[in-house]
Amino acid sequence: MTLVIEQIPALSDNYIYLLHDSATGATAAVDPAEAEPVTDALARRGWTLSHILVTHHHHDHVGGVNALKRMTGCRVVGAGRDRARIPGLDQAVADGDTVAVGAATALVLDTPGHTIGHVCYHFADECALFCGDTLFSLGCGRMFEGDAPGMWASLTRLRALPPETRVYCAHEYTQANGRFARAIETGNPALAARLAEIDDLRAAGRPTIPSTIGMERDTNPFLRADRPEIAAALGLATTDPASVFAALRRRKDTF
Ligand code: ZN
Ligand code: FE
Repeated sequence: MTLVIEQIPALSDNYIYLLHDSATGATAAVDPAEAEPVTDALARRGWTLSHILVTHHHHDHVGGVNALKRMTGCRVVGAGRDRARIPGLDQAVADGDTVAVGAATALVLDTPGHTIGHVCYHFADECALFCGDTLFSLGCGRMFEGDAPGMWASLTRLRALPPETRVYCAHEYTQANGRFARAIETGNPALAARLAEIDDLRAAGRPTIPSTIGMERDTNPFLRADRPEIAAALGLATTDPASVFAALRRRKDTF
């Protein structure tokens, strides 16, 4: 492992991540919602920003991009498909591309659904996934631009990553997601254990993020739409995963 990962709370419930490669000094900010908490952390650490990695165009992920780029001249990386909506884009990436942050390398995964141009950054050697608003702990992003089959395909792609992969999503939504997950899967012991852990973490004022892919596989209903107990809990006749996922997402939207 070469990356030091600093997790910075921003806005009301966002996380911005700073990735620092101590060998080269390269430092990337993932989804800088605002500039100030990033510049504060950089100053505190004595790091210089070299890259910004954007997962998608929403304001709570790119709000700090222009100011940070102006201050540091850093290189902005994001989906070429959303070129018109990502401020200051320097390096347009697509599925299968790699992005180097010093000696560390991320594979770009195209994960449409929340937005059409959403991408995730997977640092395999670091066991770290930066997944923006596609996958949350115990939840997933709303489908603002994509459809259920596409979002389900994106999520199953993330689910297939090694179980020890740390999941760095962009929001602290875990506790609210947990209330929904518990309503869907009453008899899942792994979920019950995770919910107790989440309550303890939040009571202590600590983040529930990162989670891991293995933990999400076992407890996140949105990664479990191909399991018969989820279809049964929703009272569905179909077990087609994309249809079950769509029903689950609709249920959560009004929960
Ligand atoms: Zn978003
Ligand atoms: Fe967001």
